[in-house]
Amino acid sequence: MTHAFFTPPAGGRYVLRNARAPRCLVDDPLAADLRPAGDGDLVALDLAVEDGRIAAIAPAGATDAARGPDMDASLVLPGFVDLHTHLDKGHIWPRRQNPTGDGAGAALATMQDRTAHWHAEDVRRRMDFALRTAYAKGVVAIRTHLDSLAPQAQISFPVFRAMREAWAGRIDLQASSIAPVDIFLTDEGVQLADIVAESGGNLGCVTRSLRHPAEPTPPEVDEGLARLLRLAAERGLDVDLHVDESTDPRARSLIRVARAALAQGFKGRILCGHCTSLALQTDEFIAETLAACRDAGIAVVSLPTVNMYLQDRSREAVRTPRWRGVTVLHEMKAAGLDVAVAGDNCRDPFYAYGDHDMLDTYTQAVKILHLDHPFADWIRAASATPAAIMGLQGRGVLKAGMPADLMVLRARSYSEMLARHQFDRTVLRRGRAIDTTLPDYRELDELVEGRH
Ligand SMILES: [Zn+2]
Repeated sequence: MTHAFFTPPAGGRYVLRNARAPRCLVDDPLAADLRPAGDGDLVALDLAVEDGRIAAIAPAGATDAARGPDMDASLVLPGFVDLHTHLDKGHIWPRRQNPTGDGAGAALATMQDRTAHWHAEDVRRRMDFALRTAYAKGVVAIRTHLDSLAPQAQISFPVFRAMREAWAGRIDLQASSIAPVDIFLTDEGVQLADIVAESGGNLGCVTRSLRHPAEPTPPEVDEGLARLLRLAAERGLDVDLHVDESTDPRARSLIRVARAALAQGFKGRILCGHCTSLALQTDEFIAETLAACRDAGIAVVSLPTVNMYLQDRSREAVRTPRWRGVTVLHEMKAAGLDVAVAGDNCRDPFYAYGDHDMLDTYTQAVKILHLDHPFADWIRAASATPAAIMGLQGRGVLKAGMPADLMVLRARSYSEMLARHQFDRTVLRRGRAIDTTLPDYRELDELVEGRH
């Protein structure tokens, strides 16, 4: 059963006539000439599909009516890309909640659940549930962080490798380690770098330490980052970090990441997630930090729904959050950094909600981060930009020759798309509509029912 509103013609060779798409996602020499249609940067186009691939993009009206359906201005979008997730944590909420709803509560609850339950089959089944959900939503690529404190890396990375193989051709999967920065001062950090290298992953840490858990910028951060970058460089790995995920303005690690990378002349890619406390710094310090990030070639991913959930939450009975919890994404983009948005956690102690839906993440990011008026090319932050950061050329855009992995919406405009939940989207994979029925939570009952 599928709720999709549209089914493409049988035979796999057709043209979606009179469709609309954001110009900033049309990767074609014709893009600049396409006729504006609707709000934002939307343009009118015909999109031809052949043998599971986008065969050509043409101006709307250029194609003979017999060759395919009139889409009546429906939006056609490329499959989106989720650059920062935690599939190993996902869906444990029924058995491990976060009674305080803040970051400290989340870290404690997750640690307890991990030590009690995260054997390979537990991780595999929850990850599989997440991937089937994301696939039904039209997501084509995902990077997941994997909790990596010993012994978990030895359990989760092999599960990840098997899942990457099982899902090849449907969802491109990448992994990054996550562990406190000070483990890179020990042999465990070297062993972790080896596991990551064997797994073709990204080397990552969080800018917090085991030894000084209360310090927002721990004293080990410079030496830990320097060692992590050396381990990554020696193994040819890219780096993916959790940085300054804090409401405390004393969390100032981002500029240290940039300086460490510049000091070493690090050649790989560096992605920093969260960076929320940067929004609480002075304009001068923000400008200094962004200049250093630009010089170091650092890209940033914001996790708006999770930041809004965790940041500025109080344990006092009566206090309303006073800020949105998100980093200075507009200033970062203006400074020339590559910026993305992503989903982060899903139904775990770091975020009680979520559904692995990047179109929803973009929609919420528009509202939380004001990615509107104008919409400009912000939709690239959920599609083309994360694809490029993951090294997936031609993904997250509409481009002739690439697989026809698309989302077709009934919505004709940004307004219609962002106002209404797109539950009835058609998801095309290799040009054919897939079943968009979501996995039933009941599948996980026996795994995640409260039994701790
Ligand atoms: Zn994260």
